[in-house]
Amino acid sequence: MITACETMLAPQMRAAKPVLDFSQARLLASEYGSPLLVVSRSKLAENYRTMQSCLPGVEFFYAAKSNPQYEILRTLHELGCPVDVCSAGEMNAAINAGFNPADMLHTHPCKTVQNLRDCYEAGIRLFVYDNANELGKFTRYAPQAQLLLRLAMSSQSSLINLSAKFGAAPSDAVELLIAARDAGMNVRGLSFHVGSQCLSPEDFLVALGQARQVWDDAAAAGIELEIIDFGGGFPAPYRTEVLTLEEYCIALGRALEMSFGDVNARIIAEPGRGMCADTVTLITSVLGKNVRNGTPWYIIDDGLYGAFSGIVYDHAEFPILAENQEHRLTSPCVLAGPTCDSSDVVTRDQELPDLEIGELLLVPTMGAYSSASASGFNGLDIARYVEIE
Ligand SMILES: *Cc1c(COP(=O)(O)O)cnc(C)c1O
Repeated sequence: MITACETMLAPQMRAAKPVLDFSQARLLASEYGSPLLVVSRSKLAENYRTMQSCLPGVEFFYAAKSNPQYEILRTLHELGCPVDVCSAGEMNAAINAGFNPADMLHTHPCKTVQNLRDCYEAGIRLFVYDNANELGKFTRYAPQAQLLLRLAMSSQSSLINLSAKFGAAPSDAVELLIAARDAGMNVRGLSFHVGSQCLSPEDFLVALGQARQVWDDAAAAGIELEIIDFGGGFPAPYRTEVLTLEEYCIALGRALEMSFGDVNARIIAEPGRGMCADTVTLITSVLGKNVRNGTPWYIIDDGLYGAFSGIVYDHAEFPILAENQEHRLTSPCVLAGPTCDSSDVVTRDQELPDLEIGELLLVPTMGAYSSASASGFNGLDIARYVEIE
């Protein structure tokens, strides 16, 4: 028997869910064609509001890297959610959606002079560095910039390590803060990223504790910091469930309280995946079928070079849904993308029913690191976007 207490303690999990059903998908596909990426404005609003209400006092800057699509940026702009960009291209996508560069955060720790100049001259003022060589670029081309020092932190439960390339070792941090100050730069705080698809919010406690140590060491060295930016990492459900966004944010809030609760800091987060991943569903259709060595092969109209590029770059394992799957006989099969590349295989280990040519499939959690890293290889178009309420 489950007691009330156990029910309360059991973590609340969420599974991947499409933002539309098959009958809506048929209507949209007949109007706009396939493949089609469908973004739900209400789901995006729900994610942002949940983050705000479960982490009061935290400022969220949407990481445009995860999906710089116009419809997503414009909806976030309407909601009042600012953006984090890494290049002039992302900045221009955000400007196009209504954002003002003065409100953006630039988080690329090691940028070209052109990237820095374009973004600074457009009006971005808050930037990130992680090494002393970067400081010369700022003093020369962006002297009024405010800086955050990016620290290298990685966590046990993150699927993607974002500290293997960037971030200063915490042991070098105070020296780098002093170097920035001595160069005449306005150094304001610290940033880090525990890694993307970070499954346990408890991992933030370790990283925040290390950041707090740097914060205190900096104060002892005469540098008063004001901003702590704890990056992204909020996970999304793919083939495996993850904590609900509420539960995740509440746990994160406890970690923030324990590590920075006693200082008057401006707290920033940069969620990409956690904001947009589950707001987009891909509609793809079966364009051909064959049996090879006894196994059914289905060729679909999107693949690794398109919205499924997250399989390659993001290690994502997308669940593929067929209509009425629970009531149809399923068997092992191969689902392959539309290009001539033999490695363009989307899945080999999901059982699906006997699919018809022209049949639609739905793929939830397609918002982050999907179309953002797609290419037009083989002369094929990247899936277009349509938005629904
Ligand atoms: C990729 C990235 C993000 C977004 O990370 P998610 O795990 O998608 O939330 C935020 N900040 C920086 C600096 C990044 O590189």
